[in-house]
Amino acid sequence: MNYDFDLFIIGAGPAGLAAAKRAAQQGVKVAIAEQNHLGGCCVNRGCIPKKLMVYAADYAAALHNATEYGWESCASQFHWQKFLGKRDQEVQRLREVQEQALEKAGVEQIKGHTKFLDAHTLVVEDQKYKAKQVLIAVGGKPMKPDIPGIEYALTSDELLNIEHLPNRIAIIGGGYIGIEFASVLRGFGCDVAVVSREDMILGGFDDELRSAVQEGLTQRGIKIFSDTSPDKITKTPEGLCVQLAGDSIEPLIADVVLCATGRSPNLETLELEKAGVEFDQKAIAVNPQSCTNQPHIYAVGDCTNRLQLTPVARAEGQAAVDIMLGKPSQEVDYTLVPSAVLSRPEAASIGLSEAQAKEKYGDVVECHRQDFVPLRYTLGEQKQQGFIKLVVNGKTDRILGIHMVGESAEEVVQCGVIALQKGATRKELMEAIAIHPSAAEELFSV
Ligand SMILES: Cc1cc2nc3c(=O)[nH]c(=O)nc-3n(C[C@H](O)[C@H](O)[C@H](O)COP(=O)(O)OP(=O)(O)OC[C@H]3O[C@@H](n4cnc5c(N)ncnc54)[C@H](O)[C@@H]3O)c2cc1C
Repeated sequence: MNYDFDLFIIGAGPAGLAAAKRAAQQGVKVAIAEQNHLGGCCVNRGCIPKKLMVYAADYAAALHNATEYGWESCASQFHWQKFLGKRDQEVQRLREVQEQALEKAGVEQIKGHTKFLDAHTLVVEDQKYKAKQVLIAVGGKPMKPDIPGIEYALTSDELLNIEHLPNRIAIIGGGYIGIEFASVLRGFGCDVAVVSREDMILGGFDDELRSAVQEGLTQRGIKIFSDTSPDKITKTPEGLCVQLAGDSIEPLIADVVLCATGRSPNLETLELEKAGVEFDQKAIAVNPQSCTNQPHIYAVGDCTNRLQLTPVARAEGQAAVDIMLGKPSQEVDYTLVPSAVLSRPEAASIGLSEAQAKEKYGDVVECHRQDFVPLRYTLGEQKQQGFIKLVVNGKTDRILGIHMVGESAEEVVQCGVIALQKGATRKELMEAIAIHPSAAEELFSV
């Protein structure tokens, strides 16, 4: 059969872009199709705009702290629209960087929505393309719970572009995205309530980390309703009214309701059935090498049922291309993926939580915790606490997990990734010489 491309990639988010560049480096004829902007969720509706918003909100705390350092008359008026303009400039710059990188690598860029006609034929806006191999990297979209009045609720996609910041916001979902938005909006001065169906926010993280972040957010005035879910949303003259499950709980009144209740793969209009590709819980079913039930079709990133993070999507995209092109490749190791919560206090983790370690290794598990006050906050009256916790196999001294809450947690835990990857012991970590004074030095003395 004559093919237009050796490899056709659907979706130019982190997974598809990383795969396209990797494939082009290896000399194959590769195309990437994108229906929206280059960069996917990460650049346009996720990591980047969110982190810029975190920085914007941080200035409120920094201005407050500045007075403790002797500064006076610090400007304190925040202009959301001005911020959006600057943020969008940066997002646009990042899209252009991606476009140039694809051009330089010799990747053919195709604009438009893509669907399958059969297992080797793709249709983009009425144009047909034959491909020897296909990589699906279509990502995901926000999900909303099926309750009356849910049409009044926004998702993170809309919130990032909201015209005016709300005075009162109710956030449904205590996962990392809900918590990050809660923290940021509180930083901008909003009245924030979080509704979490679990007993504590940030399910899946170490329990001490969860309770420290929950306590820190509560101290900042964020109301957290645990073990609760919304029953319905109605529009009232006072604002949106979120009725919560359970008789005793007062309804929440808010200007905006944000749903941060997870994301589902973007598969409805792909016509996967025409290619005979199978599903697994509404995501594309893949084996550990990211291959679907069709040997020439692979799927990576958020459209598969794995970890929904940008570095994971990139790693899966690169590994899948190596395998598709018959090169030596390493499977992605999901046990050593660090993750961060960019709330204030911020938190980050790598490896096993205390509960996971005890379930796996039993009584030999030891935990070492060091509490500290970051130097930056020592001059102020409000002493922000932080901690680092090492989960260790007491028999071998090997580090199983690192969990941190406090300033620079994401940067510090990133340093610990290599230690875990290389199977370092706690003793080896303690022997390393740290930079002083720094937040990271706490890692070497737990
Ligand atoms: C608010 C928010 C904050 C986040 N923060 C972080 C963070 O701090 N750190 C982190 O690691 N991760 C974060 N994430 C997750 C991260 O953005 C995703 O895991 C990552 O973008 C997944 O990459 P992907 O390539 O699989 O999919 P996506 O980035 O979703 O890209 C898929 C692309 O495919 C395109 N597409 C879909 N269907 C078609 C079609 N039929 N034809 C053509 N094109 C199509 C889409 O338009 C999209 O551009 C965040 C997500 C959200 C929502």
